[in-house]
Amino acid sequence: MGTESFFLQGQMPTLREVLASREQRAFFEEEISKANVNQTLVSLKCNIPGPVKYNSIVKQIADIGVQEVKNAIAHNGWQITYEKLMDLATGPEYFVVVDTYPTAVKQATILIEDSTPMGQLFIIDVFYLEEGKMIEVQRSELGYEPRKCLVCGKDDDEECENEETHSVQERFKMIEKILREDGRVKLT
Ligand SMILES: [Zn+2]
Repeated sequence: MGTESFFLQGQMPTLREVLASREQRAFFEEEISKANVNQTLVSLKCNIPGPVKYNSIVKQIADIGVQEVKNAIAHNGWQITYEKLMDLATGPEYFVVVDTYPTAVKQATILIEDSTPMGQLFIIDVFYLEEGKMIEVQRSELGYEPRKCLVCGKDDDEECENEETHSVQERFKMIEKILREDGRVKLT
């Protein structure tokens, strides 16, 4: 099966659903954080271009990301106080609360994002609550550069994204290459 078909079949949410899920996610993240004070919240989703946001391949990618986050938590000896995995039409989302410092957790998640090509397909955000406000830990606070573009390797992926430098096809092609070389996702 060629690349183009990988991400053309599956659940295609409407723009409205995507926006609603983004809003719900932010609300949910705040709720979890308020229920688990003085802890750190991690949220993981997949970075998949195009209209299809959920299918068996996206699910497998998300499961690998979840496993890597869990491994990092176990490896560091942190305790999980809450976790939830949601399979939404807008894409799988995983939330986990750990009883340690936000910067320590961010350091671990940056390692997941940066140390393998597959890591580029995860978006892992780290939050904490300060005086009732949600704060997201930034890569720059820990001395890391912005994430590089998946297609051209340019220093700031958001630039390419905002300017729509690359076609969805180009991005699918790169993702297919990553998945084939990684070998953990069954591409059928
Ligand atoms: Zn680029």
